[in-house]
Amino acid sequence: MKSVSKNSIDDSVQYLKSVGPKRAESFSKIGIRTIRDLLFYFPSGHLDRTTVLSAAKAYGYMMNGYDGELTVIGKVFKKEKKRFGKKEILKVQFRDETGFFECVWFRGTKYFHSVFNEGDVFAISSKPDKSKYGALQFIHPDFDRITEEEEKSFLHTGKIIPFYRIPKELKSGNIGDLSLRRIISLAVENYVGEVEETLPDEIIRQNKLTSLQDAIRNYHFPESSDKLSSAQKRFKFEELIYLELLVALRKQNYQSKLIGNKMSIKTNLVQSFLKTLPFELTKAQLKVLGEIKNDLLSEKPMNRLLQGDVGSGKTIVSLIAMLIAVDNGYQAAIMAPTEILADQHMKNISEMMKKLYECFPEREIKVSLLLGGQKKLERDKRLQEIELQEADIVVGTHALLEEKVIYKNLGLVVIDEQHRFGVRQRAKLQSKGKTPEVLVMSATPIPRTISMTIYGDLDISVIDEMPKNRKPIKTVLRGESRLPEIFKFIIDKKKEGYQTFIVYPLVEESDKLELKAAETFYEELSKTHLKNLKLGLIHGRMSWQEKEEKMLLFLNKKFDVLVSTTVIEVGIDIPDANIILINDAHRFGLSQLHQLRGRVGRSDKQAFCVLVTKDEIVQYNIQLRLDLEYLSSSMLDKFKSAIRLQTMVKTNNGFEIAETDLKLRGPGDIFSTKQSGFPDLKYADIVRDVELISLTKNIAFDLINKDPSISSESNVVIRKNLIKHYSDNLQYAKIA
Ligand code: ADP
Ligand code: MG
Repeated sequence: MKSVSKNSIDDSVQYLKSVGPKRAESFSKIGIRTIRDLLFYFPSGHLDRTTVLSAAKAYGYMMNGYDGELTVIGKVFKKEKKRFGKKEILKVQFRDETGFFECVWFRGTKYFHSVFNEGDVFAISSKPDKSKYGALQFIHPDFDRITEEEEKSFLHTGKIIPFYRIPKELKSGNIGDLSLRRIISLAVENYVGEVEETLPDEIIRQNKLTSLQDAIRNYHFPESSDKLSSAQKRFKFEELIYLELLVALRKQNYQSKLIGNKMSIKTNLVQSFLKTLPFELTKAQLKVLGEIKNDLLSEKPMNRLLQGDVGSGKTIVSLIAMLIAVDNGYQAAIMAPTEILADQHMKNISEMMKKLYECFPEREIKVSLLLGGQKKLERDKRLQEIELQEADIVVGTHALLEEKVIYKNLGLVVIDEQHRFGVRQRAKLQSKGKTPEVLVMSATPIPRTISMTIYGDLDISVIDEMPKNRKPIKTVLRGESRLPEIFKFIIDKKKEGYQTFIVYPLVEESDKLELKAAETFYEELSKTHLKNLKLGLIHGRMSWQEKEEKMLLFLNKKFDVLVSTTVIEVGIDIPDANIILINDAHRFGLSQLHQLRGRVGRSDKQAFCVLVTKDEIVQYNIQLRLDLEYLSSSMLDKFKSAIRLQTMVKTNNGFEIAETDLKLRGPGDIFSTKQSGFPDLKYADIVRDVELISLTKNIAFDLINKDPSISSESNVVIRKNLIKHYSDNLQYAKIA
C-alpha cells in the first residue's frame, strides 16, 4: 500500500501513528475501520478533578459512614496474594501524597494481579469500606489506569481524562486504556478539522449548540466540565432532531397520500345506534369521538392513536367510527391481537348490530369474521363477502393482512391493542384500501416522551375517565402466609354472587411445564381451600376455542373460580368476576399487572384485586415509602418488585403506572424501537431527556412544515445526512 504524508479522515485507522495493520485489524472487529469511525468512539466516562478525593479525604468520608461511590487516585506500591484454604485474596496497596488505601479482590485474582504493577497510577472508584485494621479499603472497585504525566496535568491544570470501553477485541490486539487514549488523541489533533458539520448553521446558532468539530474534541478531551456537557448535549440534540425529522416525514408522507377522502353524516344510522346503547357516553368518550369525527369528516386523513384504560369504553367509540365509514359506503375492519378477542368483538358487534337493525331497519349492517384457523369452506365464504362488500364490518386477527384478502372498498381500519403490532403491519393494512383511515387503540397508556417519538407520527386521543357506574377497584398486597384468609374471603364473597379469577405466573417458558403447573394448582385448590366451590381451569396449552369455551362456561356461572395462567390477560368481559387473585405477583411486569386487574371491575359492584407475594416483599413495602426519583440504580433493582406492587396498590391510573413502568424498565422493553421503524438512540435517553425531545420535536415539525421536501439551501445538510445515515428508517417516510 502506498503511503502518503497526510491521509484523509476516511482512510483506514492503520495510517495513524502507532496503529498499523495488526491493531487496525482489532479495531475493525468492533466496527472501527476509518479514522472517522475512531473519532466517533466516545468515552464511557471521564475523570474530573471535582469528583476526585485525596486518600485522606476519602478516609474521612469512610469514617463518617458515607456509602456512595467515590474516586481516589493512587500509585501502586505493594501487592500481595494470600491463600485461605481454597480461596485466594489479592490485596493491592496504593498511596498518594496524603495517605494510603487498599483494594481487595476475591475473584479473578490472577488477572488483577497482572493488571496492577508497582509504580503504576490508577483512578479507583467504588463505595468505601473499612478493613479489619481500620484502613480505607475498596472491594472489587472500578479502576482506570492513567500515566503519571496525565496525573500531573490532571492535578495541576484540572484537565479532564476520558476513559474508554476496552472490549476484549481491543485488549487482545494489545490496545489498552493508555494506548487507546493516545491513539484517539492523535486522531482528534490531526483529523477533527476534516469533519463536516451535520446540522444547519441556523439551528446551531438558534439553539446555541456546539459545532460538531468542537463537540467531538470536547467529548473526548474536554477543556472543562461545562464544555463536556455542551458537547454531549449537541450529540443528543442531533440524534433527537433526526429522529423527530423522521417522525415528521412519516406523518407528512401519510397525510400527503390520502386526498379528498371526505366523509359525512349521510343518514340516521349513527344517531340510531347511540339510541340503542343502554348508557350515555362519558364526556371523555364524546371528546375523543369528536376528534375522530373531525378526521373522518375533513380531508385530513386519520392516523390516530386512541388511548384509554381497559374498560374505559374504547371499543364502543371505534364502533361508532366504523359506522360512520359504513354510512359513507365504505367497509371498516377491526383487527384484534388474538383469535379469542376477535371472536369476542364479533359476538358483541353482531349483537349490537341486531339491536340497531330493529331501530333502523333501512340498512342492515353485516359483520364478518376472518380468522387464521378457519376451515377452507368457511374462509372462502368470508373472503367472498369481503371482496363483494357483502360484509360492512370485518372483524379479525392478523389474517386480515394476508395477500388473499381483497377489500372492495376499505375506508377505515381499527387496530386493537397497538403495542403488539409494528409499524410494518400498520403500513400493510393501510395498503389494503386505497388509503384507509387508521385508528389504533391501546390500553397501555403511552408516556409523553414515547408519544413524541416512537408514536410521534400519530395524533393522539385519550379517554381519561371511566364510565360512571364503575367503582374504583380495591387493590391490596398480601404475603403468602395470608392465603388462607384470602380463600375464605373468596368463599364468603361467592355468597354475594362474586366470581373470582386466580392467576398464576408462567413457571417456565416450556408449554409442558406450564400445563403441569396449572393443573397442579388447580387440583390442589379443588382438594383443599376451595373444595366447596366449582373451579375451572384455563391455560396456554389450550386452543383458543377451548379457552373460549371455558370463558363462556365461566360467564354462565358454571364455575365460581377460574384458575388460569396468564391467558386471561386479554379476554372476555365477565361482569360478575369481581375478584382477581394474582399469585407471585412480584413476577409480573407492571403493565401486565394492570392489564390483569382490568379483567375485573366491569360492573357496578365493588371489585377487588389481591396481589399475593413473598412475605418479605410485603415487609419491604412497609419500609419503603421512598420516591422513585431518589433511588440509586442499585437500590432500584433491589426494590423494583416492591415498587411495582406498591404502585399497583397506590393507583388505578394507567398513565401513572405507565410512567413508573418506563422508569423501572427503560423504554426498550416496553416500546420496541425495532418495531417502530425508528433508529435506536445512542446518546439521548428517552426517559430523562423530555425537554430536549419536546424542543427538537417542535423544530423538526416546523422545518418539515416549511420545507416539506427538505430542498431549501439551508437544509441541504439535513437531506444529505438523512439519506446517508437513516436510509433504513426512511422506508415509511419517503423524501422526494
Ligand atoms: P375498552 O375497549 O376500552 O376496554 P369497552 O369499550 O370494551 O372498553 O367497554 C367496556 C364495557 O363498558 C363494555 O361492556 C361497554 O359496553 C361498557 N361501556 C362502554 N362505554 C360505557 C359508558 N359510557 N357507560 C357505561 N358502560 C359503558
Ligand atoms: Mg378493549
